[in-house]
Amino acid sequence: MPAARLYPIFTQLAGRAVLVVGGGNVAERKTAALLEAGADVQVGATTFTPQLSAWAENGRISLIYGEFAEEWLDRQWLVVAATSDAAVNAQVAAATERRRIWTNVVDDAALSSFQVPAVIDRAPLVVAVSTAGAAPVLARLVREAIERVLDPSLGALAALAERWRGRIRGRFADLGQRRRFLERLFQGRVAELVRRGQLAVADAAIARELAVTEAEPAAGSVVLVGAGPGDAGLLTLKGLRALNEADVILYDSLVGADVLALARRDAERIDVGKRAGAHSKSQDEIHELLLAQARSGKRVVRLKGGDPFVFGRGGEEIEFLRAHGIAYEVVPGVTAALACAAYAGIPLTHRDSAQSVRFVTAHCKASLDTLDWPALAAERQTLAVYMGVAGLERLRDRLVAHGRAATTPIALIENGSRTTQRVVLGDLANLPQVACEHAVVSPALLIVGEVAALGAQLHWFGAAPLTAAPALARAA
Ligand code: SAH
Repeated sequence: MPAARLYPIFTQLAGRAVLVVGGGNVAERKTAALLEAGADVQVGATTFTPQLSAWAENGRISLIYGEFAEEWLDRQWLVVAATSDAAVNAQVAAATERRRIWTNVVDDAALSSFQVPAVIDRAPLVVAVSTAGAAPVLARLVREAIERVLDPSLGALAALAERWRGRIRGRFADLGQRRRFLERLFQGRVAELVRRGQLAVADAAIARELAVTEAEPAAGSVVLVGAGPGDAGLLTLKGLRALNEADVILYDSLVGADVLALARRDAERIDVGKRAGAHSKSQDEIHELLLAQARSGKRVVRLKGGDPFVFGRGGEEIEFLRAHGIAYEVVPGVTAALACAAYAGIPLTHRDSAQSVRFVTAHCKASLDTLDWPALAAERQTLAVYMGVAGLERLRDRLVAHGRAATTPIALIENGSRTTQRVVLGDLANLPQVACEHAVVSPALLIVGEVAALGAQLHWFGAAPLTAAPALARAA
């Protein structure tokens, strides 16, 4: 079964029979973890560590002496095979598979029907990390990273929230209000008190807040968030926070699925994507939708590819919101020119050859006609052209006609920063041909200028850059 992803679950093992096969140190470690979950653990083996024997003596576990036998499985919910004998582990795996009992064979993902994740334990808050056995060391590093950011007091905070859950629910029937109250709880004074270990004071503070909090007036707002070019890692922390607090997200077609996946699970997601040609919402419809959602008291995130203020019509949207008295914020994003240049190893400026950069859009004939060609054709600058891939020929012709050398290097970056990124290098003369030859599709960004040639040596992300086929290169 290649590449099917694992389905994560958290199991309730309290009081349930679980079998550990093996009596060594690994079996002991697994038993300890199962005991913490309250499982009714049986350990079967020919010899046992002193600790396992001691647990058996205090009645915390029971032991089965001998070689593994299928009857051991009779009452089990779950099995862990932790012997050092691969043949025995395989035998356990085969028997449990027949009986449909979930089984983990330690350090053998192929034989396991369930795997035990790396865990960050702030019980009742638990974070589990898995790479499906592909890279346990990576899982461990991720676990360490998360350990660093999650304060140890979070467990106590979660427990406190659980204690107060009924009263909080009684106080706020409305789900949105309740969520806002809890968010304040987890981020404000109460969390701080728990961090300092002052649980009684924290309890008093919650009681006070529950008593005084007025029903919040429904005041919706809009946050314009730049999602960046695709790689979800390029989203800002502030953007991430906005996505986590959103009730509704209006997103464009350029927004990557990975970024959307970071948003709060139950946030409503509305695709207002403007794909060239396909039917999509007009800018006016988007304005009306923003207004209606905000007026209904929701926290709206308007999520745009790249940066909202670079060829993103973000300006029009906040003008409209201001005119209608809706509060807004703007969170910038990494615009395509910056991301594509970085991910193609092309510095946009360079002391030797480019002292300025221009962001240009050339989406259609009309926009091509209104550009300042003499200025765009000037030497010692880099052009970052946002555009469809149509119109390259006209663009090349005008730049050359206004004096830019036909030998000026170019780079076309398709799907910049995404796993599907492709970079095509050439020069102004062969620009339309290389684009056609490599079937470059939207979204793609064009870089014109000496710096584009550096992509041949400095590339670091994804596949090596493509160039013109030899015949084409000679013809050009
Ligand atoms: N606000 C966006 C730009 C929107 S205009 C930003 O700041 O990036 C749409 C154009 O952006 C596309 O036609 C393409 O030229 C460019 N673009 C956006 N994302 C891109 C990506 N991942 N790779 C290459 N070009 C991209």
